[in-house]
Amino acid sequence: MAATFVDVLVPVALDQTYSYRVPDGMALAPGDVVGVPLGAREVMGVVWADNVEIRPGLHNRMKDVEQKLDIPPLKPELRKFVDWVSGYTLAPRGMVLRMCLRMGDLGPEREKVGVRLAGPPPQRMTTARARVLQVLADGMVRAKSDAAHEAGVTSGVINGLIDEGTLETLVLPPEPVARPPDPDHRVPELSDAQRTAADTLRATVQKGGFSVALVDGVTGSGKTEVYFEAVAETVRRGKQVLILMPEIALTGQFLGRFAERFGVLPAEWHSQIAPRRRARTWTAVAAGEVPVVVGARSALFLPYADLGLIIVDEEHDPAYKQEDGARYHARDMAVVRARGAQIPIVLASATPSVESEVNARRGRYTHLHLPERFGGQHLPSVEAIDLRREGPPRGRFISPRLAEAVKIVLERGEQALLFLNRRGFAPLTLCNACGHRMACQNCDAWLVDHRFKRRLVCHHCGFSMPPPEQCPKCAAKGTFVAVGPGVERLEQEAAELFPGARILVLSSDLVESMERLRQELDDVAQGRFDIIIGTQLVAKGHHFPKLNLVGIIDADLGLANGDPRAAERSFQLLHQVVGRAGREEGRGYGYLQTHQPEHPVMRALMAQDRDAFYTAEIEVREKTGYPPFGRLASLLISGGDKHATEAYARKLAAVSPADESVRVLGPAEAPLAVVRGRYRFRLLVKAPRNYDLSAYLREWLAAAPKTKGNLKLEVDVDPQNFL
Ligand code: ADP
Ligand code: ZN
Repeated sequence: MAATFVDVLVPVALDQTYSYRVPDGMALAPGDVVGVPLGAREVMGVVWADNVEIRPGLHNRMKDVEQKLDIPPLKPELRKFVDWVSGYTLAPRGMVLRMCLRMGDLGPEREKVGVRLAGPPPQRMTTARARVLQVLADGMVRAKSDAAHEAGVTSGVINGLIDEGTLETLVLPPEPVARPPDPDHRVPELSDAQRTAADTLRATVQKGGFSVALVDGVTGSGKTEVYFEAVAETVRRGKQVLILMPEIALTGQFLGRFAERFGVLPAEWHSQIAPRRRARTWTAVAAGEVPVVVGARSALFLPYADLGLIIVDEEHDPAYKQEDGARYHARDMAVVRARGAQIPIVLASATPSVESEVNARRGRYTHLHLPERFGGQHLPSVEAIDLRREGPPRGRFISPRLAEAVKIVLERGEQALLFLNRRGFAPLTLCNACGHRMACQNCDAWLVDHRFKRRLVCHHCGFSMPPPEQCPKCAAKGTFVAVGPGVERLEQEAAELFPGARILVLSSDLVESMERLRQELDDVAQGRFDIIIGTQLVAKGHHFPKLNLVGIIDADLGLANGDPRAAERSFQLLHQVVGRAGREEGRGYGYLQTHQPEHPVMRALMAQDRDAFYTAEIEVREKTGYPPFGRLASLLISGGDKHATEAYARKLAAVSPADESVRVLGPAEAPLAVVRGRYRFRLLVKAPRNYDLSAYLREWLAAAPKTKGNLKLEVDVDPQNFL
């Protein structure tokens, strides 16, 4: 029999596949996961095509496939999705494939040892030993660590009892990745509006096929309860569900709610899952043994055996955009995957993206509206505090009116959230003697004072240094002052203003682990803190029953930059944060400290007039041709030498294909002009709504001069970030 060949896509930053010879006795089909030699190493790859024609003379030098891995093949649906995402984003195919193959460590999961009572009591009895025997008196098997934990003893005590024969050990079977959810475990009584929406979603699942629904409900309206009905229906039909969440910080409370509704926990997928568990989850998902996956955007690239439904929760969230490697928007690509798989997808948000809002208004998406909070709770009433007239004293950041409002909720035994989207103590450190500002040595950015860590930190490159003893410029000592607030500084002020209040600062840089964060969020929900001071980590999704007041320290913060989505983003973020207030008992209040109370964003927040905001914002986009009424792509050119970088950017601009409907803007120095010692220039491409921008960019890049030295060109289709 003649030798056969296969084309294998390998998970490296390349578009092309490599051909390999299939050794005798090995049968391969497209989708199979194989080990192949690449240079000096063996890498994992996927057979992308077979029956490759034999190229005369070439096959002699062709290397053999080394092995076929014993895991389920990638289905055509997923392979087409990889090709599509690559074609659209211009990320190399191999790089997109790599996201599908992040399966962790395929070795067996570490065995857990269990113990149970087996022999006579030990010769020497101690109180610790007695506690262990008491715990195990029921004759059940427990993991060694659980037994020690329950009895409040060290593992040494357990080991002693094993040595004496009082306890015997057994190998515990590995925890299953996921147990089957029970769609009827605890079906909630839905409100009328919820039922109408849930019925529509259930019908969509029953009908099957591709469709997009936008569940657009005010904060606290019970969007989760509603889409859980679609999840239940999909599970009943034996198909898999993917629930995407923008941040794993959000998943803790969510998992609990899922378990209440379905009786079991779903499988989780995100960067913090341990390698062996990842591998088991990956293979179980591919084998169809996992009914529901809850995950971050990377869960979109899992090899589902039979996906039946995708949910994108908080669909407007900017965290869905991946900004490094393959630049893709997980919400948009989720819609693409749903279309490819011919299944329904549900987008949920209290503040939909303008893109989704437009699609819903034009009837392209099914629009499901939940206009009221569940249980009749009012939405918080929102007031502005005009910082020009009633701001705090100099060097302080909590205005007298806000402080007064916080005092009142504290007296009632309720909670207050002070929101400031700034990590650290102060965004700027300045020498009082000469005016010198502490800046990053690698970036065009100030160093942020982090007092808890006792370091000045660059938020762009991670550079950090201890606060200097003296000014590096004028050598004066003790002249540095902190300018502006960060959450740590706010804590200091709150501690002075509200003595005795239990204060928690929540900020991503202070989070030690996901478990710890989940614990802290749970502590807040249980009422163990009075004041929460937080960044966007606490802005979204959480349900804190006792929280009735939200104070926005600097409502103008997000409006300043030149991002075309600045107003939308500010509105969404502030609306979400304020929406944490008054979700159960008592009335919720929101205070916006702002210099521009007349700004449309502030006005919409105060008037609770969300629709007016969208209408106005949609009009602006339509007029300016910004998304979704036009398309954008960004080309970022960076390099260590400013002149060479700019020169390349100009040469690149000069070879842009001529097309009447496309406008190429720039090159211009990026707002963040230097990061990690690299100078940055940006070209922006604007095209009409249905224009094939990816094809235009491909043509352009084919004509682009080679990047030399450390010059780098990064293409971002549908950019979200303009810094
Ligand atoms: P949203 O995501 O729209 O902000 P949630 O889904 O978090 O709202 O719901 C808000 C709160 O109301 C949650 O505590 C939820 O458990 C509760 N809730 C919503 N709908 C129902 C229902 N039908 N029955 C009981 N509790 C509900
Ligand atoms: Zn830096």
